[in-house]
Amino acid sequence: MEFNDDDLCNSYVATLLSTERITPPDTAEVRHLVLQLPEGDFTFHEGQCVAVLLPGPHEFGNSHHMRLYAIASSQTGEGRQPGRISICVRRCFYIDPVSGERYPGKASNYLCDAAVGDDLLIAGPYGAHFEIPKDPASNLLMVGAGTGIAPFRGFVKRIYGELGGWQGKVRLFYGARTGMEMLYMNDMNKDLHLYYDERTFQAFEAVSPRPHFDEPAALDRVLADNAREVWEMVQEPKTHVYVAGLMEAAQQFDKAMSAMAGSEDAWHRMRQRLISQQRYAELLHE
Ligand SMILES: Cc1cc2nc3c(=O)[nH]c(=O)nc-3n(C[C@H](O)[C@H](O)[C@H](O)COP(=O)(O)OP(=O)(O)OC[C@H]3O[C@@H](n4cnc5c(N)ncnc54)[C@H](O)[C@@H]3O)c2cc1C
Repeated sequence: MEFNDDDLCNSYVATLLSTERITPPDTAEVRHLVLQLPEGDFTFHEGQCVAVLLPGPHEFGNSHHMRLYAIASSQTGEGRQPGRISICVRRCFYIDPVSGERYPGKASNYLCDAAVGDDLLIAGPYGAHFEIPKDPASNLLMVGAGTGIAPFRGFVKRIYGELGGWQGKVRLFYGARTGMEMLYMNDMNKDLHLYYDERTFQAFEAVSPRPHFDEPAALDRVLADNAREVWEMVQEPKTHVYVAGLMEAAQQFDKAMSAMAGSEDAWHRMRQRLISQQRYAELLHE
């Protein structure tokens, strides 16, 4: 997503209503933040993002410093409160390639350190949303990893909690380094477990084969284990595909789908068809 100053005009002061760590202390910190924006002014759809603008002054004479975060609520608002949204933020660090030193990422640390009652500057919403098909008999294939679960939390709440259920198959393939880092599906927060009893919903969890070495979750393997159903689904005209999170998750998805299609080219052609039929959407970042 490319931005210029005009894109950031639509900004709002949001109050932080709550901040909850949703991973255990000895794992990467991810927090669920609930923000109250001005009621009535701010509307959004599942799969969209907000920009968080940091207070200045900024380095290198920049007029602003912002980062994007996917909205984790359904379009009716967090807890069905208008103007209320949640985001799911991983506290990030980066290694300076020259000095080799570890620095905290500015935006994610600013958000993870924010206290209840703080005012934050938010702009948006941005991005093409994850369109919910009009026909509830449509199949939904959702694939994501890490904080890429955020749009799916809103999506699943919308279809089961607000639209009265879903008749088509809903399959969520989700990867995390360890079971305890499965966001909204672990002992710290079970928001997505609420839907495990739904007849049409099934979640497949992929964890890293060697979590101590920071290896990515084996999303491609779990997709491969379910290749027959996944491949049948993508070929059905009523199936919609959504991919979210780090680019790595999309690469693993492409790898698994290429194997199912028989070649990379065959999968690319199939994906083009899904895109042209408006049955494919992604929300990805580096
Ligand atoms: C469309 C879009 C949606 C996004 N949605 C979310 C979201 O819902 N939740 C979220 O936490 N971040 C999300 N991000 C990433 C976010 O915008 C920031 O890049 C991130 O918080 C790091 O910003 P920073 O200023 O703290 O650190 P920076 O100095 O910008 O980066 C620190 C390092 O962390 C890595 N990194 C960035 N994001 C992640 C991540 N989520 N998981 C693992 N490593 C990461 C970067 O590659 C970099 O090496 C999204 C990005 C985009 C483009």
